[in-house]
Amino acid sequence: MTAKFTGGTGPRVLVVDDNPANVDLLVRRLARDGYSVFSLETAVDLENEMTRIEPDVILLDWMMPERSGVEALKGVRTLRDSNRMPVIMVTARGEGDSVSEAIEAGANDYVTKPIDFAVLRSRLNGILVRRLGVLQTDTVKDELEAKVMERTADLQMANQRLKGEMAERIKAEARANRLARTDALTDLPNRLHYIERLKTLTGRSPAEFEPFSLIQIDIDRFRSVNSVHGPEMGDAVLREVATRIKATVQDFDLIARTAADEFSVVLPAAFGSGTDIAQALKAALNGAFQVLGRKLAISTSIGVTRSGPQPSPCEPMLLECDAALQFAKRQGGGGLCTFDDKLEIAIRENVKLKHDLTEGVAKNEIVPFYQPVVNFMTGEVTGAEVLARWKHPTRGTLSAWEFIPAAEETGLVDDLFWSILPAASRAALAASRTATIAVNLSPSQVLDQWFPQKVLKTLVECGFPLSRLEIEMTETAVYSDLKATKLALEALRGQGVRIALDDFGVGFSSMTLLRDLPITKVKIDRSFISEIMDNTSSALMVKGIIEFCSSLGLETTAEGIEGAEAARLLAEWGCTYGQGYWLGRPAAEFPVESPWAAQLQHRRAA
Ligand code: C2E
Ligand code: CA
Ligand code: CA
Repeated sequence: MTAKFTGGTGPRVLVVDDNPANVDLLVRRLARDGYSVFSLETAVDLENEMTRIEPDVILLDWMMPERSGVEALKGVRTLRDSNRMPVIMVTARGEGDSVSEAIEAGANDYVTKPIDFAVLRSRLNGILVRRLGVLQTDTVKDELEAKVMERTADLQMANQRLKGEMAERIKAEARANRLARTDALTDLPNRLHYIERLKTLTGRSPAEFEPFSLIQIDIDRFRSVNSVHGPEMGDAVLREVATRIKATVQDFDLIARTAADEFSVVLPAAFGSGTDIAQALKAALNGAFQVLGRKLAISTSIGVTRSGPQPSPCEPMLLECDAALQFAKRQGGGGLCTFDDKLEIAIRENVKLKHDLTEGVAKNEIVPFYQPVVNFMTGEVTGAEVLARWKHPTRGTLSAWEFIPAAEETGLVDDLFWSILPAASRAALAASRTATIAVNLSPSQVLDQWFPQKVLKTLVECGFPLSRLEIEMTETAVYSDLKATKLALEALRGQGVRIALDDFGVGFSSMTLLRDLPITKVKIDRSFISEIMDNTSSALMVKGIIEFCSSLGLETTAEGIEGAEAARLLAEWGCTYGQGYWLGRPAAEFPVESPWAAQLQHRRAA
C-alpha cells in the first residue's frame, strides 16, 4: 500500500493510523497548517514508504490491528535513528504503560487521543526544530567531511609534490656534494675528497686496514708558467698534467688535485707499489709538453711516503709526504724523493741547521767569499761574484748551497745580505779603483719595497759607486713577483746598478724577460758550460745564446769554467766574461789575477 498525499508545501508529515476518521481529521488540520501530509492506514509497508517519501516526522498510532505501532517503530529504527527520523506516538488515554514502552522502542514523543491539536502542533514544532538542528549539523558535518576529503586530496597532492621536490633536493644535494668534492678544472676529486678518503682509510679497524702509499706531485716553477704564458696556458698545463697522471694511475678515484699546482695520489697496496707508480709518474710528467699549440719544458717534483702496517692518523703521513716533496724540490726540479729513515734524519738536521744558522748570522759567522770574474778580451779580473760562506764553529767552511736554502726558508737570507754587502764593497774598494762586485738576490728580498733605497744608503755610507755593483737574480726569483721585481730593478738600474740574469738556460729562458726587465748581463748556467766540450747541442746552444745576447747589446758571463779548453772556446764565441774554478775558486781574499791573462799573452805571442 502506498501513502496518500494530501497537500501542502511545508515539512513532510507521515500519518499512520488505521482509523480513517482520525486520519482524515489529522490530515486536514495539518494540511491547513501548511504541512505536506502523507497518510497510511496500515503500518505494514511503513519502512518502504518512509524511505520513498523521506518524511520529516512520523505520527504513528500505537494500536493497529495488522501491525502494532511498537512493531512498526522498531522497524523504522532499524533504518533511521531518532535524530533523523523523529516519531511521535499517538496513544489512547490511559495507556500509560504504552508510553514508556514506546519511548523505550525509540519514539521521540507522544500525544494522546483525542488529539489536542495545540499540543500536537507544539510537539511537532519542537521535534522539527530539533531535527533541523540535527540536519544542519549533518550538512555541516558533510561539508566538513567533503572539505576534509578535499584537503586530504590536496594534502596527498602536496605530499606527492613534496616527495618529488625532496627527490630533486636530494639529487641537487648530491650534485652540490660532488661539486664541492670535485675540482672544476681537471674534474678530479679535490683536497676535501682526498682528505676524507684518507681518513676513511686510516680510520679502519686493524683487521680491515690495508697499507697504502701517498704520492704528492708538484709542478716545478708553475708560477712562471702563469706569469710568462698567461693563466690560460697555466690551466692547460694543469689539465695536461692531470691527464698524464690519470693515464698512469688509471683509477681516477685515487687521484686528487690538492692545491693549485699540486696533485696527490693515495694508493692502496693492492693497486701497486708507491715507488713504482711514482717512478712511472716521474717518467710520464717530465719532458716536453705540447699545450695550446706550444712546446713547453715542464718538470715535476714528487714526494712519496708509505703507511705502516697498522692504521694510524693520516696527518703525520701528510707531513711526511710533504717533507719528501720539499726534499725533491730542493734537487732543483724533476726530482723524486721517498720518505724514509734517511730523510727523517735529514729533516731533523735541517731543523738543527736552521737553528744554528740563526746563531751563526747573529755571530757574524757568515762571510763573503769572492770568485773572480774575468774579461775574456783583456784577461783582466774585472771584479768578483760575492758568495756567502759559513765559518761553522765545528763543521769548517760551508758552501752557500749547504745553507742558503735554509736561510731563504727562515728569512735569514736578508740579514745575511746586509752584513755581506758592506764587507764586500769595502773589499772591492781596497782591491782596485774599478773592481765590481756581483751579489746574489733571493726571491723574497725584492718584495721589500724599500730594498733599492736600502742598497743606495748602504753603498753611499761605504763610499762605493753604484755603477760597480751588479745584482744577480735567477728567473725563479724574478717570477716570484714579476711586477715588484721590475719596479725594484728599474729603481736600481736608474742609479747605475747593473743587473744580471743568473743561471740562464735552466728555467724557461724567457726572451720576454730580457726585453721587459732592465737586464744588462746574462749568466749562462754552468750545467751547459760543463757540456760544451763533449755535447754538440749544448755547445751550439751556448754559442747561440752568446750571439743572441750580443745582438741585443747584452753582456754574457759563462759560469763554471773548469778548464782552459772551455775558456778558449767561449772566448772564441765572443762571450764577454768567464767565471769558474779554472779561472779562480771562491776565496776569502778579493781576487786580482786569473790564469786567462797568461793564456792570452801566450797566444798573442804565438
Ligand atoms: P750561483 O750564483 O750560480 O753561484 C755559483 C756557484 O757555483 C757557487 O756555489 C760557486 O762556488 C760554484 N762554482 C763556481 N765555479 C764553479 C766551477 O767551476 N765548477 C763548479 N762545479 N762550481 C762552481 P755556492 O757558493 O755554493 O753558491 C750556490 C748558490 O747559492 C749560488 O749559485 C747562489 O745562487 C747562491 N748564493 C751564494 N751566495 C749567496 C748570497 O750571499 N745570497 C744569496 N741570496 N744567494 C747566494
Ligand atoms: Ca750567482
Ligand atoms: Ca749562477
